[in-house]
Formats: sequence, C-alpha cells, structure tokens
Amino acid sequence: MEGKLTSLVGNTSTEIQALLGDRPNAKLRGKQIGGHLYKRAVDSFDAMLDLPADLRADLNQNFAVQPLEVATHKTSTDGVDKLLVHNGDHQVYECVLLPYEGRVSCCLSSQVGCPMGCAFCATGLGGFDRNLTAGEIVGQYLMLQRLTEKRISHVVFMGMGEPLLNLKNLLKAMRILHDEVGLSYRHITVSTVGLVPQIRELAKENLPIHLALSLHSPLDEVRDRLMPVNHKWPVKEVVGAMRDYQESTGRKVTFEYLLINGVNDTPEQARALVPLLKGMPNVVNLIPFNWVDTGQGFSRPSNDRIRTFRGILQNAGVNVTQRVERGHDIAAACGQLAGQHKGKFAKREQGEQLKPLPLVP
Ligand code: SAH
Ligand code: SF4
Repeated sequence: MEGKLTSLVGNTSTEIQALLGDRPNAKLRGKQIGGHLYKRAVDSFDAMLDLPADLRADLNQNFAVQPLEVATHKTSTDGVDKLLVHNGDHQVYECVLLPYEGRVSCCLSSQVGCPMGCAFCATGLGGFDRNLTAGEIVGQYLMLQRLTEKRISHVVFMGMGEPLLNLKNLLKAMRILHDEVGLSYRHITVSTVGLVPQIRELAKENLPIHLALSLHSPLDEVRDRLMPVNHKWPVKEVVGAMRDYQESTGRKVTFEYLLINGVNDTPEQARALVPLLKGMPNVVNLIPFNWVDTGQGFSRPSNDRIRTFRGILQNAGVNVTQRVERGHDIAAACGQLAGQHKGKFAKREQGEQLKPLPLVP
C-alpha cells in the first residue's frame, strides 16, 4: 500500500516542483507530472512514460500518486457509479459519477461524516470524523474521471459533509480543479447548510463558482427543527448573507428545498418563500426526501403535494427546478451518501430527540 508516502495529488504543479527538490529539471518535471495527474488522471508513476526511468523509480520510492483508495464500487441500473473511498484508515467517504445527456457531472464529499446534525440527513445522523484534505477532495474527482472516457465537466459539493466547514481545503481543491484540471469555476457548485461567516468569507474570494443554500423552510420554527444550524443563523440572516453574496460576486445563487411530507411542504411555506426570496433572480431546486430512517417518521410527499408546492412558487414568478433523481438502487442520492458501510445509522436510537450540535468554528 502507498501508505505514508507524500501524495502528489493535492499539490499544484509548482508545489510538485518544490517537492522534487534538487532533482534535475525539477521545473519541467513538476509540470509534466502535474499534467499527468490532473489533465490525464494517470494513476501510477510508471504510466508517465515521458519521464526518465530513473525518475519514475525514484518517485515510486518516495511519493504516492494520491492519498485514497477504493473500498467499494457500485454501478446503478441507470448508469450512476458510486465509489466508497478511504485513506487506508477505514474512514470511508463517498463520491458519485453522474452522466447526463451531453455532460458528465460528479458529486464529491468534503468531510468524513458531518457535524451539522440535520434531522433528515444520513450523513448528519452518523456523526463527524474529520475534514478531507485538498488531495482527498481532488482525488475523488480523479478516481471518478478514470471510470469514464468522457470528461467530467461539472462538480457539485453535495456529498458527505459541510463544505464551508472545510473552507481552506475546499478552496485549494477548487483552485486545483480550475488551474490544473481545467474545470470552469462556473461548473462548480458548493451547497451549504448556511454558515453565515463562511458565506461572507467565500464572497471575498470572488470566485465565479455557484453557491447553493440548503434552505428547506422559510419558517424558523420548522427550520430549527430540521437543521440545528438555524438556531445560530436563522432564516432571515442566512438569506441576507446569500443576497449579499450575490450582490458582491455578481453570481446568481440558488436555494435547495428538500420536501418532507407534512413538515415543510405546506402551501403556507411555499407562499412564505416568495417574499423571502424577492429581488433575487432565484432558482429554487426542489428535492423530494430520499428515505432515510431518521427515527422521526419523515416521508416523501405525494406527487400531488409536490405539484401544489411547485405551482404556488411558479405562479408567483419563482423559477423552480426539481432534482432529477438517479442511482436509487445504490443509494447514490445526495444526502444519502453515508456510512451504510459502517452501520452508522445505529448511532441514533429511534425517536431520540435531536439536540442542536455544537457548531465547529
Ligand atoms: N452539507 C451541505 C452539502 C451536502 S448535503 C448541505 O447541507 O447543503 C447536499 C444536499 O442534500 C443538501 O441540500 C441536503 O439538504 C440534501 N439532503 C440531505 N439529506 C437528504 C435526504 N434524505 N433526501 C434528500 N436530500 C437530502
Ligand atoms: Fe451535513 Fe449537509 Fe447532511 Fe446537514 S444536510 S448534516 S449539513 S451533509
């Protein structure tokens, strides 16, 4: 196993050059290696045939290509691939390849587990292990790229974890995806539970990425129950931060809206969304609840209820999309990417009261 060797994935070409130290032609070699790793998703030094044989042998001795390896690979009947990966430590996390007509997208994790404790989320119910490094984030992309001949052009951070709790590594990973892999920032979506200070910090970076807020209710009493984060940054405050983000970056933000039967799918809440989102050329993306045993009896609304909710928004001029669901048979839906591998759902007992978790700064 590659184990303790320094992994090159997660470093820029310039950083790789520095890691090569005083080896001959370090600058050129750094560039070549970076090109192999990121542009061609090469997974071994032996396959970097334009490097001298002695350098390849040297690299094999002293470095690893990437920090992660595949624990499980599942393919769904509708062509979605899900990888469960780890770093030799059995802390597994997941990523998903999503081929669509005309483009290939992927869904990546930013943390192993998640400390935010949302009541409907398989990841949240399983607790938190740690942040992923930039190499582990970019490594997921590269692992998935190796499964397809088509180029993965879109990345969404909707796998395990809250990306803005891991902002430093997330920013580095996005820079590598942009500068080294060649992805457009516009094709990268970061979905957040709504951490106001981090939204403001991200705005200062002024990257043309796409930011989505998991809103899930316009009413504090409902959002409090679903998402402990709302006690700290309630609806008005977080939507205000999204508005400021949009104004300062000029990038249109979107809102994710999970629909849970009888909880947040009422016509009253659809109507309350309209004034809340006023003045933003918004898109609300509806996500019918993917069943997870939350111990709270949550279920997916009927198609009729979804249509009613959607109709109220559309009649008020709000743009609405509905998430195309894929990979059901392998539990590849976002928010479902969690520790079935570890039997983590057992961590919370049926009916246990959900308490707000402490927020990691
Ligand atoms: N932590 C970030 C990103 C990962 S979750 C966030 O919360 O936004 C990605 C999306 O999946 C979020 O919108 C989340 O609310 C949603 N999600 C979580 N559990 C879900 C479930 N059981 N069914 C449908 N969507 C879910
Ligand atoms: Fe974490 Fe997002 Fe799941 Fe909430 S929905 S627990 S923030 S991964």
